[in-house]
Amino acid sequence: MNYDVVVVGGGPAGAIAAKYAALNGASTLLIEEHASIGSPVQCTGLISTAALNECETGEGNFVLNKMKGAFVYAPNGEELVVRGKDVKAYVIDRKIFDRELVERSLDEGVDILLKTRFIGMEKGKISVISDGERKEIHASVVIGADGIQSSVGRAAGLGRCEKFISGIQFEAPYAAKDPEFVEIFTGNDIAPGFFAWAVPFNGLARIGLARNPGANPPLYYLRNLLKHPVVASRYRGSRTEWVLGGIPLGPPKKTATDSVMLVGDAAGQVKPTSGGGVYMGAVCAKIAGEVAAKASQKEAVLGEYEKRWRSAVGRELSIGMRIHKSLGKLSDENLNEFISFLNKPKISEIITDYGDMDHPSVLLQKLIQSGDKKQLIKLLGVAIKTIF
Ligand SMILES: Cc1cc2nc3c(=O)[nH]c(=O)nc-3n(C[C@H](O)[C@H](O)[C@H](O)COP(=O)(O)OP(=O)(O)OC[C@H]3O[C@@H](n4cnc5c(N)ncnc54)[C@H](O)[C@@H]3O)c2cc1C
Repeated sequence: MNYDVVVVGGGPAGAIAAKYAALNGASTLLIEEHASIGSPVQCTGLISTAALNECETGEGNFVLNKMKGAFVYAPNGEELVVRGKDVKAYVIDRKIFDRELVERSLDEGVDILLKTRFIGMEKGKISVISDGERKEIHASVVIGADGIQSSVGRAAGLGRCEKFISGIQFEAPYAAKDPEFVEIFTGNDIAPGFFAWAVPFNGLARIGLARNPGANPPLYYLRNLLKHPVVASRYRGSRTEWVLGGIPLGPPKKTATDSVMLVGDAAGQVKPTSGGGVYMGAVCAKIAGEVAAKASQKEAVLGEYEKRWRSAVGRELSIGMRIHKSLGKLSDENLNEFISFLNKPKISEIITDYGDMDHPSVLLQKLIQSGDKKQLIKLLGVAIKTIF
């Protein structure tokens, strides 16, 4: 087998990178270690309208619900209502969504091999175990879209992401206060360093949390979350599906060599404020596919990928990381103070006008300009002061 571009990993980033490599004229192979695309799911499936646009699928049958806002709960129970003017995000079925993305890449001429695991590489070829047999595939460029553990990244000697947080989630019947609103729970007893959520759809919700490394196991916090008065009043028991997974934050210093590129979770292209990776993965995968195709024809070098993706989302990632670190250090008392600060009519208006789950830096800049800069700096720390 001989291809211009081989993409390892059939998640969203891999499917989009493969599609863009093929669209730019490269013979492209997508390999996936599992027997079916999109399984097992490691996601809450909440993606912004901008993410869906970026993925170029339109509103398919994977859309389970449309969300207009969020209820954010402080540790002391104060409720902050964040109301968007229109639909801000979709709840999706990742199995159907991932499959749709792969099918679109096949429409552009990409070949696919399922049950095919990348195990190593030398310049110009990769080794795989395909249907139990060891095989070699020749490739000018390899795109590692193989997720958080990225074997391609390790084999290419590319570094690791800055931080890994772990999440736990289950799906269950849930009597949401408003089915068009996501519920966010904060507090060091529930999700130290991050947050917990209930994302409703069709009378169910995905209930879960992610927490900083080094804290107690995720299940410990999940038990606390289920005792939260709001969750306890809406969750009626029983569970239909479990998800356990890690989220990489902070990209490695280098994401490309002269023949390998990393994209998506493999490259830490994940929003540090929300843990969402579909949007940034899609933005970067398009660049990766295009540059890979050009590089395979000697019309570009892979360093161009590194420059272009960092210029597209690098600043948002680094501001997001600072916000993540600042919020992660807040005590419950500070979190109460922060949510009460946001819960003022003037600030609520700013949140409605400028809140954007893919670009929290825009909202932060507006909040800083709102005249309450001193209080924000007091709460979020001096790191925030140096951003704008
Ligand atoms: C609990 C939790 C909740 C989340 N919620 C959201 C959310 O609501 N919204 C959002 O945007 N993001 C969310 N995320 C993050 C999101 O799931 C990821 O960012 C996204 O799936 C990354 O896409 P990807 O294509 O880079 O990697 P993945 O989706 O992880 O795909 C990688 C693929 O590579 C394959 N693979 C791995 N190794 C090999 C190998 N050696 N050979 C062949 N194939 C291989 C895997 O089987 C997999 O199919 C969540 C994550 C977690 C853990």
